[in-house]
Amino acid sequence: MTRLIFLGPPGAGKGTQAQILAQHLNIPHISTGDILRQAMKEQTPLGIKAQSYVDSGELVPDQLVQDLVEERLGQADATSGWILDGFPRKVTQAAFLEELLQKTGQGGERVVNLDAPDEVVVTRLLSRGRKDDTEEVIRRRLEIYRNDTAPLIDYYSDRQKLVTINGDQSQEEVTHELKHTLAS
Ligand code: AMP
Repeated sequence: MTRLIFLGPPGAGKGTQAQILAQHLNIPHISTGDILRQAMKEQTPLGIKAQSYVDSGELVPDQLVQDLVEERLGQADATSGWILDGFPRKVTQAAFLEELLQKTGQGGERVVNLDAPDEVVVTRLLSRGRKDDTEEVIRRRLEIYRNDTAPLIDYYSDRQKLVTINGDQSQEEVTHELKHTLAS
Protein backbone atom coordinates (compact mmCIF):
# COMPACT_ATOMS: atom_id res chain seq x y z
CA MET A 1 0.00 0.00 0.00
CA THR A 2 1.57 3.27 -1.08
CA ARG A 3 0.28 6.66 -0.02
CA LEU A 4 2.52 9.49 -1.08
CA ILE A 5 2.44 13.26 -0.87
CA PHE A 6 4.64 15.28 -3.22
CA LEU A 7 5.99 18.56 -1.88
CA GLY A 8 8.28 21.00 -3.62
CA PRO A 9 8.31 24.31 -5.48
CA PRO A 10 6.36 24.70 -8.72
CA GLY A 11 8.56 23.41 -11.54
CA ALA A 12 10.48 20.90 -9.42
CA GLY A 13 8.98 18.05 -11.46
CA LYS A 14 6.31 16.87 -9.01
CA GLY A 15 3.65 16.30 -11.66
CA THR A 16 5.93 14.38 -14.01
CA GLN A 17 7.40 12.19 -11.30
CA ALA A 18 4.07 11.61 -9.57
CA GLN A 19 2.58 10.47 -12.86
CA ILE A 20 5.44 8.07 -13.64
CA LEU A 21 5.36 6.59 -10.15
CA ALA A 22 1.57 6.29 -10.06
CA GLN A 23 1.63 4.36 -13.31
CA HIS A 24 4.45 2.16 -12.02
CA LEU A 25 2.56 1.41 -8.80
CA ASN A 26 -0.87 1.29 -10.46
CA ILE A 27 -2.41 3.82 -8.08
CA PRO A 28 -4.15 7.12 -8.88
CA HIS A 29 -2.18 10.32 -9.34
CA ILE A 30 -4.29 13.01 -7.71
CA SER A 31 -3.24 16.52 -8.70
CA THR A 32 -5.40 19.28 -7.23
CA GLY A 33 -4.06 21.65 -9.91
CA ASP A 34 -5.14 19.25 -12.71
CA ILE A 35 -8.57 18.82 -11.12
CA LEU A 36 -9.01 22.60 -10.81
CA ARG A 37 -7.85 23.22 -14.40
CA GLN A 38 -10.29 20.59 -15.68
CA ALA A 39 -13.11 22.16 -13.64
CA MET A 40 -12.20 25.58 -15.08
CA LYS A 41 -12.26 24.18 -18.62
CA GLU A 42 -15.70 22.71 -18.02
CA GLN A 43 -16.83 25.85 -16.19
CA THR A 44 -18.28 23.82 -13.32
CA PRO A 45 -19.22 25.71 -10.11
CA LEU A 46 -15.84 24.71 -8.64
CA GLY A 47 -14.02 25.86 -11.78
CA ILE A 48 -15.80 29.21 -11.81
CA LYS A 49 -14.94 29.81 -8.14
CA ALA A 50 -11.29 28.77 -8.60
CA GLN A 51 -10.54 30.63 -11.83
CA SER A 52 -9.31 34.01 -10.59
CA TYR A 53 -7.08 32.44 -7.93
CA VAL A 54 -5.45 29.96 -10.29
CA ASP A 55 -4.91 32.56 -13.01
CA SER A 56 -3.14 34.94 -10.63
CA GLY A 57 -1.10 32.25 -8.86
CA GLU A 58 -2.91 32.69 -5.54
CA LEU A 59 -4.05 29.74 -3.45
CA VAL A 60 -7.65 28.71 -3.86
CA PRO A 61 -9.54 28.89 -0.50
CA ASP A 62 -8.93 25.85 1.73
CA GLN A 63 -12.56 24.78 1.80
CA LEU A 64 -12.72 24.32 -1.97
CA VAL A 65 -9.61 22.15 -2.27
CA GLN A 66 -10.29 20.28 0.96
CA ASP A 67 -13.75 19.30 -0.26
CA LEU A 68 -12.40 18.09 -3.57
CA VAL A 69 -9.61 16.08 -1.92
CA GLU A 70 -12.04 14.47 0.54
CA GLU A 71 -14.31 13.53 -2.33
CA ARG A 72 -11.46 12.18 -4.48
CA LEU A 73 -9.85 10.12 -1.70
CA GLY A 74 -13.24 8.57 -1.02
CA GLN A 75 -13.49 7.11 -4.52
CA ALA A 76 -13.04 3.37 -5.02
CA ASP A 77 -9.67 3.50 -6.83
CA ALA A 78 -8.10 5.37 -3.90
CA THR A 79 -8.51 2.43 -1.53
CA SER A 80 -5.40 0.78 -3.02
CA GLY A 81 -3.21 3.84 -2.43
CA TRP A 82 -2.61 7.23 -4.07
CA ILE A 83 -0.15 9.96 -4.87
CA LEU A 84 -1.19 13.47 -3.90
CA ASP A 85 0.46 16.21 -5.96
CA GLY A 86 -0.13 19.84 -5.01
CA PHE A 87 -1.99 19.14 -1.79
CA PRO A 88 -1.49 20.03 1.00
CA ARG A 89 -0.01 23.46 0.30
CA LYS A 90 -0.49 25.01 3.76
CA VAL A 91 -0.27 23.85 7.35
CA THR A 92 -4.07 24.24 7.69
CA GLN A 93 -4.56 21.87 4.75
CA ALA A 94 -2.02 19.41 6.20
CA ALA A 95 -3.91 19.38 9.51
CA PHE A 96 -7.16 18.78 7.62
CA LEU A 97 -5.57 15.90 5.70
CA GLU A 98 -4.13 14.35 8.84
CA GLU A 99 -7.58 14.30 10.41
CA LEU A 100 -9.22 13.00 7.24
CA LEU A 101 -6.74 10.12 6.93
CA GLN A 102 -7.18 9.25 10.57
CA LYS A 103 -10.96 9.31 10.23
CA THR A 104 -10.91 7.10 7.12
CA GLY A 105 -8.15 4.75 8.32
CA GLN A 106 -5.81 5.76 5.48
CA GLY A 107 -2.62 6.42 7.42
CA GLY A 108 1.01 5.49 6.75
CA GLU A 109 1.57 8.22 4.19
CA ARG A 110 5.08 9.33 3.24
CA VAL A 111 6.06 12.74 1.97
CA VAL A 112 8.54 13.36 -0.83
CA ASN A 113 10.15 16.76 -0.82
CA LEU A 114 11.30 17.27 -4.41
CA ASP A 115 13.67 20.18 -4.15
CA ALA A 116 15.24 22.41 -6.81
CA PRO A 117 16.78 25.89 -6.78
CA ASP A 118 14.71 28.93 -7.88
CA GLU A 119 16.69 29.61 -11.06
CA VAL A 120 16.14 26.03 -12.23
CA VAL A 121 12.39 26.02 -11.59
CA VAL A 122 11.85 29.45 -13.16
CA THR A 123 13.61 28.34 -16.36
CA ARG A 124 11.55 25.15 -16.47
CA LEU A 125 8.25 26.93 -15.86
CA LEU A 126 8.92 29.58 -18.51
CA SER A 127 9.42 26.83 -21.09
CA ARG A 128 6.22 24.98 -20.06
CA GLY A 129 3.84 27.63 -21.36
CA ARG A 130 0.84 27.08 -19.10
CA LYS A 131 -1.51 30.05 -18.71
CA ASP A 132 -0.25 30.67 -15.15
CA ASP A 133 3.39 30.39 -16.25
CA THR A 134 4.03 34.08 -16.99
CA GLU A 135 7.02 35.57 -15.21
CA GLU A 136 4.88 37.66 -12.84
CA VAL A 137 2.60 34.78 -11.83
CA ILE A 138 5.58 32.42 -11.45
CA ARG A 139 7.20 34.90 -9.07
CA ARG A 140 4.00 35.04 -7.02
CA ARG A 141 3.68 31.25 -6.91
CA LEU A 142 7.26 30.91 -5.70
CA GLU A 143 6.63 33.50 -3.01
CA ILE A 144 3.52 31.62 -1.85
CA TYR A 145 5.49 28.39 -1.91
CA ARG A 146 8.15 29.87 0.36
CA ASN A 147 5.69 31.48 2.78
CA ASP A 148 2.86 28.94 2.98
CA THR A 149 4.06 25.60 1.64
CA ALA A 150 7.73 25.32 2.65
CA PRO A 151 6.75 25.19 6.38
CA LEU A 152 5.29 21.77 5.57
CA ILE A 153 8.85 20.46 5.21
CA ASP A 154 9.34 20.91 8.97
CA TYR A 155 5.77 19.79 9.67
CA TYR A 156 6.34 16.40 8.03
CA SER A 157 9.96 16.11 9.08
CA ASP A 158 8.85 16.48 12.73
CA ARG A 159 6.41 13.62 12.10
CA GLN A 160 9.20 11.48 10.58
CA LYS A 161 7.37 11.22 7.27
CA LEU A 162 9.69 13.22 5.03
CA VAL A 163 12.25 12.15 2.44
CA THR A 164 14.07 14.75 0.35
CA ILE A 165 15.03 14.11 -3.27
CA ASN A 166 17.17 16.40 -5.41
CA GLY A 167 14.94 17.55 -8.27
CA ASP A 168 17.84 19.24 -10.07
CA GLN A 169 18.74 16.10 -12.02
CA SER A 170 17.46 14.51 -15.22
CA GLN A 171 13.94 13.09 -15.16
CA GLU A 172 15.36 9.54 -15.31
CA GLU A 173 17.77 10.16 -12.43
CA VAL A 174 15.00 11.54 -10.23
CA THR A 175 12.72 8.59 -11.03
CA HIS A 176 15.52 6.16 -10.25
CA GLU A 177 16.31 7.84 -6.94
CA LEU A 178 12.63 7.97 -6.00
CA LYS A 179 12.04 4.27 -6.66
CA HIS A 180 15.20 3.39 -4.78
CA THR A 181 14.30 5.57 -1.77
CA LEU A 182 10.72 4.42 -1.58
CA ALA A 183 11.68 0.76 -1.76
CA SER A 184 13.74 1.08 1.41
P1 AMP B 1 -0.38 23.26 -9.57
O1 AMP B 1 -0.85 22.57 -10.81
O2 AMP B 1 -0.18 22.31 -8.42
O3 AMP B 1 0.83 24.13 -9.82
O4 AMP B 1 -1.56 24.24 -9.11
C1 AMP B 1 -1.99 25.30 -9.94
C2 AMP B 1 -2.83 26.28 -9.14
O5 AMP B 1 -3.98 25.62 -8.60
C3 AMP B 1 -2.14 26.90 -7.94
O6 AMP B 1 -1.34 28.01 -8.29
C4 AMP B 1 -3.35 27.31 -7.08
O7 AMP B 1 -3.98 28.46 -7.60
C5 AMP B 1 -4.30 26.12 -7.30
N1 AMP B 1 -4.09 25.04 -6.31
C6 AMP B 1 -3.67 23.77 -6.55
N2 AMP B 1 -3.60 23.06 -5.42
C7 AMP B 1 -3.97 23.89 -4.42
C8 AMP B 1 -4.08 23.76 -3.01
N3 AMP B 1 -3.76 22.62 -2.37
N4 AMP B 1 -4.51 24.84 -2.30
C9 AMP B 1 -4.83 26.00 -2.90
N5 AMP B 1 -4.73 26.20 -4.22
C10 AMP B 1 -4.30 25.17 -4.99
